[in-house]
This record gives sequence, C-alpha cells and structure tokens, in this order.
Amino acid sequence: MGRRLFDTISPKRQPRINKMSSPVIYILVALTLISAVISVTFLLAWKTLGEKPYTLSWAIAFLAATFHWALTLMPNWFPNVESYWLTISALSMVMITLGLRGHCQRTECRKLPQNLWPLSAGLYLIIVWTTAVQPHVGISTSLIPGVAAVTLFLSAGMILRHREVSRPAEIATAVTMVIFGFAQLAASGIAFMQGAVVDIFLRDIYTHISFMSLPAGYTGMAIFVLFMVASDLSEDMKELAVRDQLTGLLNRRGFGEQAVAAYAASRRSARPVSVIMTDIDRFKQINDDFGHSAGDIALRHFSDFLQANRREDDVTARVGGEEFALILAGADLAEAVRMADELCARIEATPVDLNGRQLVMTASFGVATISDKDDSLADVVVRADRALYRSKREGRNRIDLESSQMVLALDGSLKPVSV
Ligand code: GH3
Ligand code: MG
Ligand code: MG
Repeated sequence: MGRRLFDTISPKRQPRINKMSSPVIYILVALTLISAVISVTFLLAWKTLGEKPYTLSWAIAFLAATFHWALTLMPNWFPNVESYWLTISALSMVMITLGLRGHCQRTECRKLPQNLWPLSAGLYLIIVWTTAVQPHVGISTSLIPGVAAVTLFLSAGMILRHREVSRPAEIATAVTMVIFGFAQLAASGIAFMQGAVVDIFLRDIYTHISFMSLPAGYTGMAIFVLFMVASDLSEDMKELAVRDQLTGLLNRRGFGEQAVAAYAASRRSARPVSVIMTDIDRFKQINDDFGHSAGDIALRHFSDFLQANRREDDVTARVGGEEFALILAGADLAEAVRMADELCARIEATPVDLNGRQLVMTASFGVATISDKDDSLADVVVRADRALYRSKREGRNRIDLESSQMVLALDGSLKPVSV
C-alpha cells in the first residue's frame, strides 16, 4: 500500500472535528441548515409552480448539499480520512451535476450532453484515483471547486443566452454565479498548488476563501434562482393569457398587443403595414357533418397552414372561432394582396385529414393597408374585416381588399381608385 492522502499531516493535525475551530463549525452548521431550507423551498416550488423538472433537480441538488455539509461536520464517523473525503466528494459531484442539469433543463440547452452523469462519474474516478490509489492532494482537493467553477460559468452563460433580453432575476443569478465561480476557481488553484502532499499554509488559505465565499454565494444563488423560477412562472402566465389553447396562435388579446407594436414600428420606420383577415368557409358544416372534435382538427390544420405559409416576421392570430388575422409588417397593399391570393389558392389545395377522409377546406380573405389617416392598426383591421365580409357575400373562397384606396384591375394588378 502506497502513501496515504493525508500522510504528511501529523496525527495531531488530522482534520478531526475536535480540531475544527468553532467558527468553521458554525459555518458548516449554517450551510447544512441553509441547504435543507433551500431544498425544501425548491421542493415546494416544484409542487406549487407547475412541477417544472428543473426545480426538482435543484431540490435534490440541495438535499445532496445538506448531507454533504452535515457529513463534513462528522469526520469522526468515518474509518479513515480517505473514506470521509470520497463520501463528501461524491455528494459534491451529485450536487454540481444536478445543479447544471437543472439549468440545462430550464434553458433547453442542446450544446451540453443530455446525460451528464457519465462525465461526473469520470471526474469522480479521478478523485478516487488521486485519493486512494495514487494519492495526490493537489488534484484530489482542487477538482471539486474547479468543476464547480466551470459549472457556474457554464450555467451563467446558459442563463444569459436563454433569451434575447435577460430578465433582472436572470442577470442577478448569473452575476452571483460568476462571482462565486471566481471564488471557487481561486480556491481550486490554491488547493492545486499544494502539489502531491498537504501544505498547511495553502490549505488554510483554501479554507479561508471557501468559508468566506460559501455562505453568501450559496444563499445568494439560491434566492436569485428561486426568484428566477417565480419570474418564469409569471412569464408563463402572461404567455397563457395571450395564446389560444387550441391552436397555439396568439388570441385576440395577443393580437391586440402585437397590433399596437406593429403600428408604432410602422410609424417609426415610415414603412407600410398590412392586415389580412381570414375566415374559414362554411365551417359550421364541418362541425355538423363530422363532429366538434373534427372541427377542432380542421381549425388546427388551418392555423398550422397559416404558420407554415407566413413570412418570418408576420404575426398570426386566432381572433375568433374560425376567424384568423395576419399582420404583415413592411408589406404594402399589393404585397399583402399577393400573399392573401396565395393563401387562398394554397388552402384549397391542402385538404385536411379528418379521420382518414380528405376534406377540402376553403377560406375567404380581406386585405387592408395602413394609411396616413389611421390612428391605430384597429382602423386597418376594421377595413380588412369589411373586405372579408364582401368576400363572403360575393361567394367565398376569394379575396377582397379595402375599396377606399385601390381597385383590383381586370389584369390582376392593383390600381389607385382615382386612376
Ligand atoms: P361562413 O362561410 O359564412 O363563415 O360560415 P361558417 O359556417 O364558417 O360561419 P358561422 O359563423 O355560421 O359558424 C362558425 C362556427 O364555428 C360556429 C361555431 O360553433 C364554430 N366554432 C367556433 N369555435 C369553435 C371551436 O373552437 N371548435 C369547433 N369545433 N367549432 C368552433
Ligand atoms: Mg366561417
Ligand atoms: Mg366566422
């Protein structure tokens, strides 16, 4: 049997609990209790805030942390220093892996491997090797804070890249993670500088850095992460309020919000904006002939069709039972008419599958474009609605456009009314 990990420390200096100075004990007790409270809080968040898988990952991570800190207080329970070190290192790895996994789940990050456990197991084997097989204090003690630092930086990056404009809770979490990450990196570097055997001086600096940063880093991170979970929920609820449940498109309220934004953008950029209103033809008949759930399938088919055939920046919404609206930013009347024409022809050529039966659906369209006189996009919507009404009246499966500004000439081109 070769050298043991802490052989160079005389028995008097072995890290036994009776050798721990009391402030360290208080900090460890505080960390144990804080971890337990945070674990329960995440469990409550999981139960009450929509059973998000990442809140459960973090609840288990902090449970592992609770055991980690509690066992750190009890080195005398272990037969030797190696088993003590390997046990608390294993709990650290579990905590770190679950923490990172939670951030991957929350941000739906695809860059990191889905399964982080083999990677953590590999790193843990290095700790086992440098603790029990080929002892090397520097590697054995620097690996966990080093991995923690990398994980914190990765998590902060994931949080900040999650959406175009990060929310305050996300920024606060990421900043705390980066600061805490640097403290862990410093601790790791100092631990590594020990080399193969324990250096009491460096180990003391390591302990100071760790214990000064841990309580604030821990609680700060947990509070901000909880705040982030709560703000995720409020975002979900806002999203729910503007989405139609059946089709996933914006509902009337969401459409209204987008209309306000599109009007402001059009005025700011002096670019046109057009509206297409569309309504499925004789939809009631589909319900009557095939049943309400078949009607729902037809509605989803139509909304998927609109989504697939819109341009990237176009807004699509379900504004009524079988009535839909599109906002075409930057499109003048001619462009919007072209688009409505295409949609009208394509939907007829895209039958819906109703339990194995292919049913041809048609729709009618009304088109209007913003003019200098409009005070809001609602004015444009009213004109597009009127045009839609004319489409219906004149036989359906066709398009019509606002009559005030342009007429559709016989050759299919658009001409101003006055010409
Ligand atoms: P038109 O060509 O004039 O538009 O005739 P229509 O039958 O399409 O229009 P009408 O307004 O007479 O009927 C619309 C029907 O849409 C009535 C309503 O029961 C049905 N409807 C509204 N919302 C839903 C829904 O969410 N699911 C289903 N399956 N049907 C719906
Ligand atoms: Mg209809
Ligand atoms: Mg209708």
